[in-house]
Amino acid sequence: MITRVPVSLLLTGSISLVALVHAGQTSQQGGDQFLDGIGETALAARYVLAENAEDSSRNQGHATLRGNGGTFVDDAQFRRVLLLTGEGSHLQLPGDALAGEDALTVSGWLFLPTGASGPVFDFGQNVSTRLFAVASAAGLRAAVAIQGKVQETEPAKFLENQWIHVVVVLDPAARLLTTYLDGAKVGQAANVAVNVAQILGQSSGAARRLFIGRSQNESEPTLHARLRDVRIYRIALNEVQIASIRRNALSGRQSTRGRGMPPPEISTAAIPKDSPLASRLSNVPDVRVETIVGTLPRLPYSIPAVYRDNAKGPDVRVIWPSPTDNTEVLKPGTYTVTGRVPGTSLAPKATVIVKVPVGTATPPSRLAEAFPLSAVVLERDTNGRDTAFIRNRDKFIRGLAETSPDRFLYNFRDAFGQPQPAGALPLEGWDNQTTRLRGHATGHYLSAIAQAYASTTYDEALRANFLEKMNYLIDTLHDLSQKSGKPAKEGGPSVADPTAVPPGPGRTGYDSNLRAGAIRTDYWNWGAGFISGYPPDQFIMLEKGATYGTQDTQIWAPYYTLHKILAGLLDSYEVAGNKKALEVATGMGAWAYARLKALPPKARVSMWSRYIAGEYGGMNEVMARLFRLTGDRRFLECAKLFDNTNLFFGNASHDHGLAKNVDTIRGKHANQHIPQITGALETFRGSKEIPYYLIAENFWEIVNNSYMYSIGGVAGARNPNNAECFTAQPDTLWENGFANGGQNETCATYNLLKLDRQLFMFDQTAKYMDHYEQALYNHILASVAEENAGNTYHVPLNPGAQKRFGNADMSGFTCCNGTALESNTKLQDSIYFKSADNRTLYVNLFVPSTLNWSERKLVVQQMTDFPYADTSRIVVKGSGDFDIKVRVARWATRGFTVKINGRDRSVKAVPGTYLSLGKSWRANDTIELRMPMHFYLEPVVDQPNVASLFYGPILLAAEESGPRTDWRQITLDANDIGKSITGDPATLRFSVDGVAFKPFNESYGRHSVYLHVTLR
Ligand SMILES: [Zn+2]
Repeated sequence: MITRVPVSLLLTGSISLVALVHAGQTSQQGGDQFLDGIGETALAARYVLAENAEDSSRNQGHATLRGNGGTFVDDAQFRRVLLLTGEGSHLQLPGDALAGEDALTVSGWLFLPTGASGPVFDFGQNVSTRLFAVASAAGLRAAVAIQGKVQETEPAKFLENQWIHVVVVLDPAARLLTTYLDGAKVGQAANVAVNVAQILGQSSGAARRLFIGRSQNESEPTLHARLRDVRIYRIALNEVQIASIRRNALSGRQSTRGRGMPPPEISTAAIPKDSPLASRLSNVPDVRVETIVGTLPRLPYSIPAVYRDNAKGPDVRVIWPSPTDNTEVLKPGTYTVTGRVPGTSLAPKATVIVKVPVGTATPPSRLAEAFPLSAVVLERDTNGRDTAFIRNRDKFIRGLAETSPDRFLYNFRDAFGQPQPAGALPLEGWDNQTTRLRGHATGHYLSAIAQAYASTTYDEALRANFLEKMNYLIDTLHDLSQKSGKPAKEGGPSVADPTAVPPGPGRTGYDSNLRAGAIRTDYWNWGAGFISGYPPDQFIMLEKGATYGTQDTQIWAPYYTLHKILAGLLDSYEVAGNKKALEVATGMGAWAYARLKALPPKARVSMWSRYIAGEYGGMNEVMARLFRLTGDRRFLECAKLFDNTNLFFGNASHDHGLAKNVDTIRGKHANQHIPQITGALETFRGSKEIPYYLIAENFWEIVNNSYMYSIGGVAGARNPNNAECFTAQPDTLWENGFANGGQNETCATYNLLKLDRQLFMFDQTAKYMDHYEQALYNHILASVAEENAGNTYHVPLNPGAQKRFGNADMSGFTCCNGTALESNTKLQDSIYFKSADNRTLYVNLFVPSTLNWSERKLVVQQMTDFPYADTSRIVVKGSGDFDIKVRVARWATRGFTVKINGRDRSVKAVPGTYLSLGKSWRANDTIELRMPMHFYLEPVVDQPNVASLFYGPILLAAEESGPRTDWRQITLDANDIGKSITGDPATLRFSVDGVAFKPFNESYGRHSVYLHVTLR
């Protein structure tokens, strides 16, 4: 069998045969993300308690020292610690320090003087609903109470007058409440059917009472003890992890032990290793693949297999070796690689023919375009009901309409030392006073307001509201940015050169101290054009090697924040027509260009390789966009200054990397890198340099085939142990994925959708929109709360997990909360595309909507109940000669029929392609599409017995009544799994083995998205 190599792989120009191959830069990213071997995504808050009550986790949920007598004192063991005297002093945590957790671990050091006692911590709503621990003469005791029903551990004696490491773990999946003293398990309550959400309630943060050293019961004495390093984790830590926290604290070192993979949280014992297909398969044929010198071949991910007795069966997934460089293809010739079919002993071979490229390559052209947001309006379904798209849109539109722009401008005015308007409140969460990412939400907000303005053509009052907000935001940011680098008073000092920004007044160096009263506000020294939610120091510190962290010598991700702001400005200009916004963006773009151009290339390679600190979102994208909008070539050059050289090109010599189809993303932080890829594609759009295109195309193939979960999202690894990282190796979701702390960061999926769209503009291949549909229905629609604009960060897919929604009131934003503002104000943006020459209409998605195609002076209406029906009706209101191409989804393998004006049209519809209906259209021509849906399984790449169940594009989730410690098992008919499933396609409610299934995007309770499937 010959597998054709995609044309684009053959486009690359020639490469020197003697190019040296350097060691692949594919190891996991280093950095501060692991504290005692536990990924930072698991850490909700950390109070070191050496000199203040600040939260040193990234969430910056600072505590307040309350009551009398609490003080920081010298200590023989830990140098400085917090002393609580038992006379009322205690710590109160902000109510939103804990939200949406399932499990919880509280860890800390406690020194109890002889005869002392008191509450160690108490988290809850009141005396009858809380989780707490008490130290007394009887020992340490932990308890959980729900409406007065108490379950507690037996008290465990411990020594007074010495430091003890105390840990309390609430593990709802195992139904255990466990206490540890100095690393040893000392107490346990079983059958604890309680999770943290029940303890804290669904109410807002203000109603949550989170104390350290104090009880919910005000009449109880407060704690008399010394405290140090109190940490709160949103996962149930295991004994190995608890031991490593203690050991590292005592040794004063960060040991690398325990840094490896924690065991799976969910038991895998019952799941066989053999594929359910193994006994039915007779052979998987060998393949031949061509590539060009220097570029790794694109080997087929699935191959039509030969089944015994001429039976029919699905294509099988093949896992091929994935080299970390391109050594194998440096010379023309032929070589063989051996793959494996998971769960079988089959080992198909691929013969790879390496050729010298012929002729010069032609860069792909951008032949398709999106319609403006204002051209497409979401409509109700055929029964007049709001669709999920309309419901989610309206939750956000309503919320945004009520926001105060002054809240989103607070940090900017604060940075520039300007007064706040009366009543202006700061944002919370990642935009609070000390958070080094502050301003990121403002960037998302700018984009969202611009999109909301462009999208609400159906409601003039809303449109006026958003226009007013946008103009006010841009005017204010414009005024602030005009101050940068200019004297505050006439004749006063100033520094206009961005490369000459001095340290803050009275300081010898740069720092990231943003505390009220300490933040520098000398904007006249910041260089012309500067605008951000904080002073320029973090940008300069990044250049000088600063790493990610919460000390004043550390930074978060300055260019990430800046990307959001610049994208917001450019959206205000490009989507909503605000000219001043372009001026602000141009000024700050020039500032960034000046600084980055002055650096040696080595410094930039180091910066962009740095975990989180060097995360720059899509800075390369906005810079290339700025070039496109202004024609100023400095900005295109600046886009390239953001090249993540190791990722894109393998190394400084550009020997391999994604540009040559080498997987350089393994183990990396997913959302740090996905927008860089979209940026590479935008850089290609401006420069026509083909390697930038190949980076995007190769990345898409690798990520879609080797790292993706069934909802269309990525990331969430046990190895490396981080809910936001790709697995350490491709095709190992089962071995290395399913992180205990969650998977599928929602903004990563938003960015993957953006990449789908942008690749489609160059290559009108259905696979891009197939993924778009998968992730739109099963992640983006699934990421919003039922009744309000609350939305998800990670979307956990472990059995019995539950989505957690945050920020319903738009007051405190994580990255994903910010991104959700963008996602839900442009839900209509990919239903239709057009060819750049306006001769073709692409119908990508089946969503009720009206398209106003102004260039053709016609309207296209789509009426459908999809996916609650398998039909869609499209009416052309207007006339003309043009092609209509409809997507025949990859799942539409049971036929696809077309009627035009009631008459059957004979078509050859191939799943995973566009079907051309080109003709001369006349007013009210009506197209009726029918695409029967069926049930099918999407197995985990490296564990064929564990799979997700789909009906058409819709992922079905098993409804669960509680957390699980094993994988939900179902048995299905081997020849036709649909025979084992009952239910109603009109509601998408189904049942298998007595278990209820519904669309994951309608699931708000506990779910199982992956199932242990047995075929019978
Ligand atoms: Zn995020």
